[in-house]
Amino acid sequence: MKTSIHIENKLISKPSRLGFKYHIKTFGCQMNEHDSEKIAGIFNSDGMSKSEDIDQADILFVNTCTIRENADDKLYGTLGHLKKWKEQSSDRRLIVGGCAAQKDKELVRDRAPWVDVVIGTHNTNDVINLLNQSEDWGPITKIVEETLDIETEILPVRESGFSAFVTIQIGCNNSCTFCIVPSVRGVEISRRPSDIINEIKNLSNEGVKEITLLGQNVNSYGRDLMIDNKRSPYFTQLLYKIHEIDGIERIRFTSPHPKDFKEETLIAVSDLPKIANQIHIPLQSGSDKILSSMHRGYNQKKYLSKIDMIKNIIPDVSLSSDVIVGFPGEDDADFDETMKVVDYAEFDLIYMFKFSPRPGTVAADYSDKFVEKHFIDTRFMRLKEEQIKISQNRYNRFVGSTQQMLVEKPSKKDPNVLTGRIEGGHIVHLESTQNIIGQLIDVKVYDATPFFLKATL
Ligand code: SF4
Repeated sequence: MKTSIHIENKLISKPSRLGFKYHIKTFGCQMNEHDSEKIAGIFNSDGMSKSEDIDQADILFVNTCTIRENADDKLYGTLGHLKKWKEQSSDRRLIVGGCAAQKDKELVRDRAPWVDVVIGTHNTNDVINLLNQSEDWGPITKIVEETLDIETEILPVRESGFSAFVTIQIGCNNSCTFCIVPSVRGVEISRRPSDIINEIKNLSNEGVKEITLLGQNVNSYGRDLMIDNKRSPYFTQLLYKIHEIDGIERIRFTSPHPKDFKEETLIAVSDLPKIANQIHIPLQSGSDKILSSMHRGYNQKKYLSKIDMIKNIIPDVSLSSDVIVGFPGEDDADFDETMKVVDYAEFDLIYMFKFSPRPGTVAADYSDKFVEKHFIDTRFMRLKEEQIKISQNRYNRFVGSTQQMLVEKPSKKDPNVLTGRIEGGHIVHLESTQNIIGQLIDVKVYDATPFFLKATL
């Protein structure tokens, strides 16, 4: 199938796969979810339409992740299953993109030779050309090592009409020893503020009410920007600019790095009513020894001082965090330090991970210090049980109060319930059958679990 579409040059002349259906499987973080929205936009430009049912699809894009434990095993397991899917029709095409493709291009090709296109994180805009080339010449792999242009004129296809991700920065300049991001996503590159503002204005015109600003390290946004010979704006100034955009009613951001959190950013969160009073502040470990081995750039004391600063400036803040259990060299005393911080900080939510070595990371070479699985499992359970108690306590504070909720979708389990989130990011199950999806409305919270709130109108 030949086509004259050159996405990278923004010359979209005519759709060439009119009537084809595509399906996208996304693993990993919000950055990947947003990339998948952009890939959907590219496929739509080529005349295809999205199918939720993989069996109806002609083209399947697997957007991979390598960050978390078992991600590789999961990927190759998935690709093994997809061999059968592919063999059911000679017209089907399978594409693998995302971080695993960027990092392990040869491995993907070797372990799943039935994949038609292996494409890197920096060149997804090229996907249609590569698809065409694979149809003419057979399986193809293309990975560019550097980001050439982070602006794109492709319109992402969003799952929701009123909530959208906006990338403000890609890459990361840190070197956490457990993390593969710097090697697969490259150094930090901030988008130009005018492009971000224009994108958000357009989203607002389309009816979007809530945006989530995305970056690997959002609060170092702008460090690489020079405008009129000045370094500007930094993240806080960007927040003020975005806050002025009419129609946008709620602004979130993720992920910030504790060491780069500035007081001025917290003052902005506190002062600007549209910025959600929700802060994600990844802890990873509470032990100074482990934090140093992770190259996190802070110790327990500094981390706790950030927690105090956040709570002083935003008293009603909802905090969330990431914790890795069983990092190489962690002993019971180190883990006790993590528990100490968890008890002190009282996070509303923790994303917990058991350490597993990621090939290509520094920590993968710490094999002489790997922690035995049963220790990791025991500590993980301890953390989970403690956090459930803390979350229950934190969620209880909303019972009896009125909260503003963005109604997102009907519950999958109960047709009489709608789900959405309040300002702090907590999930709400709302008893209602009214047509209020997409609206920001006041709800009365009448019950709380450690995982969600229950409310009525
Ligand atoms: S700050 Fe650390 S964990 Fe986060 S993306 Fe950068 S290297 Fe990875």
